[in-house]
Amino acid sequence: MKYDLTQLISQKVNEVEIDSILEFTKDDDLSKSESFKIAPVMVAGVVKRNGENFSLTLNYRSKWTYYCNRCLDELEYELEGEIVRSIVKERNDAEDDNVYVESAVIDLYDVIYNDIVLNLPSQVLCDENCKGLCPDCGANLNTSECTCEDEKIDPRFAKLKNLFTHD
Ligand SMILES: [Zn+2]
Ligand SMILES: [Zn+2]
Repeated sequence: MKYDLTQLISQKVNEVEIDSILEFTKDDDLSKSESFKIAPVMVAGVVKRNGENFSLTLNYRSKWTYYCNRCLDELEYELEGEIVRSIVKERNDAEDDNVYVESAVIDLYDVIYNDIVLNLPSQVLCDENCKGLCPDCGANLNTSECTCEDEKIDPRFAKLKNLFTHD
């Protein structure tokens, strides 16, 4: 996701359009995620001159699949976000949101990747009332009923039961 800003820096143009598809590299944490099945992300935006520096505005979107953290059901996840940043030539010691560009080429991969990671929910559920899977038989309790709970016997009574059956 590299963009050459030479024309912008030399004032030949006032803006550089961004329009591309971000493909993830295999060793990214997102590629290994167990909560999301990721897909390429459509990215569109613009880099504009803003005094001495430049401003970056872009939108990204994609359709991913996620697995409910409780019942493991597969659902569609609409990924979208907007990034508005300043692009600066001098790195500042202070922590800021600026995108630092050393040469005339800006690489937006990390900027977008980090924004996606920051905004992903830590827990994804098909429904906040999702009942999840039965820990004993693995049945999806949203769609089926299992009898595990009924068959569970208090261990103190289980001993008593054995007493009677081995009589
Ligand atoms: Zn669920
Ligand atoms: Zn069960």
